[in-house]
Amino acid sequence: MNPLYGLIASRAKHRCEYCHAPEVIFNFPFEVEHIIPLALDGSSHGSNLALSCRSCNLYKSSHINGVDPETQRKVRLFNPRNDEWSEHFMVNTETAEIIGLTENGRTTVLQLKMNKPSQLAARKQWMLLELFP
Ligand SMILES: [Zn+2]
Repeated sequence: MNPLYGLIASRAKHRCEYCHAPEVIFNFPFEVEHIIPLALDGSSHGSNLALSCRSCNLYKSSHINGVDPETQRKVRLFNPRNDEWSEHFMVNTETAEIIGLTENGRTTVLQLKMNKPSQLAARKQWMLLELFP
């Protein structure tokens, strides 16, 4: 486990910093993710680390950019250290979908596959438990 896990998880209030999944209902700690990957010279300092659920980390992989589905422009992904979540995303509490409000938000929702069926099904359960949004 990343030695900074405790600090990063506490700072993130034990939620995935991308999709806001609540860590408390998982049976394994969330992952400490490099926002700018080490392969792209990102650092292992706390300013480049985010708490991420397995799904977001898997699909983010080494990506820092993606293609905005609306404009087809290449834009950077949401950066949990520099960006405010609520400025880039909102939750549709009827469908459990995460809606991108900006080009960065839309691109991140798409790249990280935040609205795939298994995500929506899980989110609906978290809502029933009042752990989401
Ligand atoms: Zn996530």
